[in-house]
Amino acid sequence: MSEKQDIKSYNLIELKEQMDSLGEKGFRAKQIYQWLHKEKVTSFEEMTNLSKSLRTKLKEIYEIRSVRPVDVLISKVDGTRKYLFEIKGGSIIESVLMRYHHGNSVCISTQSGCRMGCRFCASTLNGLERNLTASELLSQIYAIEQDIGEKVSNVVLMGSGEPLDNFDNVVKFIQMISDENGANLSQRNITLSTCGIVPKIKELAEKHFQITLALSLHASDNETRKSLMPIAYKYSIDEILNACREYFGETGRRITFEYSLVAGQNDSVEEAECLADLVRGINCHVNLIPVNPIKERNFTQSDKKAVEQFKSRLEKNKINATIRREMGRDINGACGQLRNEAMKGRKEETDV
Ligand code: SAH
Repeated sequence: MSEKQDIKSYNLIELKEQMDSLGEKGFRAKQIYQWLHKEKVTSFEEMTNLSKSLRTKLKEIYEIRSVRPVDVLISKVDGTRKYLFEIKGGSIIESVLMRYHHGNSVCISTQSGCRMGCRFCASTLNGLERNLTASELLSQIYAIEQDIGEKVSNVVLMGSGEPLDNFDNVVKFIQMISDENGANLSQRNITLSTCGIVPKIKELAEKHFQITLALSLHASDNETRKSLMPIAYKYSIDEILNACREYFGETGRRITFEYSLVAGQNDSVEEAECLADLVRGINCHVNLIPVNPIKERNFTQSDKKAVEQFKSRLEKNKINATIRREMGRDINGACGQLRNEAMKGRKEETDV
């Protein structure tokens, strides 16, 4: 028997085509879409406005793909929750819920693993396993909403993986999560973070989504950037900044530059000055992240004073800058670290 199709990854147009091919009326697509993405049902039986025979037919052809919660760590400091989900095939992915007074913000993974190789990042240590489907991207949010019994208001694509390396599924996710027949989340409340795959940034700009683009810059010159991020061998900072200008031109959305501060490597005031020179004239905001050291690599976090000095030097140059607030300090593994440990634990279990 051929594998069942992933019905939750179809947008409304595709679902209409599916219904067409089954000889069903077009309006069924909207009903099914709403069941999956508004009511967030997990079985065809729950779709009670469809005939029994249609439900049976759907069940034969399609699966409702989801993510299975296997663990959740809850911070005693601020209520941040780190979720480990199992996906089809048995891999584990990580998502994080941060609770702010303005709402619930969820950080989702876009790939299982990552192939970008950033030196300070735990998600990339074992390479890329696979891309997540649109259904798996959506399900991370749906599962968290179900767990807390509240709506998610903000989504950041900043978990494991490079979103622009899973372009088609991520684009579909953005379109589907903001569809009024589904979760109806405002695109303005979505942030996509990328290591800077230039042609894909341009392609994204042409979609004219109202999402925020966050660019992981982490250095103010190409040589330093190469020492931290292999992608810098492919695209220069100039090319990246031009793509960001284009993104702003097409969407009118202010760019966020992310800059992880690594002691002695990219955190001097001279580098802050260079960074200010680079981004001057771009409608942007710089988000400073003291690097979160991972045990597999030898990086040290910049001290508080260096972080403050870096920030004030940017501000002196009239560049907007903030220091990322550390959430869930007591459960705070760096991105991907929890997943790696869970996967390792599983491997050891199967090895014995
Ligand atoms: N692939 C995307 C999303 C990655 S995670 C990207 O590169 O932007 C989101 C941000 O966290 C990125 O800026 C990434 O470089 C940064 N990051 C990853 N590991 C980190 C660590 N250990 N300490 C500080 N920042 C880290």
